[in-house]
Amino acid sequence: MERFDVIGLGAGSAGAAVARRLAKAGRSVALVEADRVGGECPFVACMPSKALLRSVQVRHLVGRGRELGAMSDEPLFDDDEYSAFALAARRRDGIVHHRDDSAKAKELEDLGVRVVRGRGEASEPAWWLSMGSNTPTTT
Ligand SMILES: Cc1cc2nc3c(=O)[nH]c(=O)nc-3n(C[C@H](O)[C@H](O)[C@H](O)COP(=O)(O)OP(=O)(O)OC[C@H]3O[C@@H](n4cnc5c(N)ncnc54)[C@H](O)[C@@H]3O)c2cc1C
Repeated sequence: MERFDVIGLGAGSAGAAVARRLAKAGRSVALVEADRVGGECPFVACMPSKALLRSVQVRHLVGRGRELGAMSDEPLFDDDEYSAFALAARRRDGIVHHRDDSAKAKELEDLGVRVVRGRGEASEPAWWLSMGSNTPTTT
């Protein structure tokens, strides 16, 4: 059974930030992640929402092309709001679905953080994981 100074549940923005600091301070750290390292921000929240916002921003700017002196003719885009959203959503999905968490996991592992895949549960007096022989515990 591996033992660590600190075991964190969740390798989202918060868990990863704490793990990075602890590892740099010389503590042994394990981070347990049930889904993807990085948490919701890169996969379902910050990144995909900004991809959609970018499409809306560009659509808005193109619509103001004449006013801004950027084009002399009416803009040539499909003015159907539903189609435009479908295109923006497809772009967003393409950005997010082609990303995996390997780079984020490697960045933590390079700092010495042990990334453990699985769902953890806290149990007194130590933290344990329902992962059989992979189960780490605090020292
Ligand atoms: C639409 C949207 C847009 C956003 N845009 C921005 C933005 O532009 N900028 C910004 O700063 N913030 C943004 N946020 C907020 C940002 O996503 C969150 O603040 C951030 O993801 C929170 O990080 P976290 O680590 O606390 O939680 P999470 O990212 O949710 O990470 C928690 C992790 O813990 C794991 N986990 C949970 N329970 C267990 C368990 N028992 N065992 C193992 N693993 C477990 C989960 O699988 C998950 O990976 C946005 C949020 C939303 C909804």
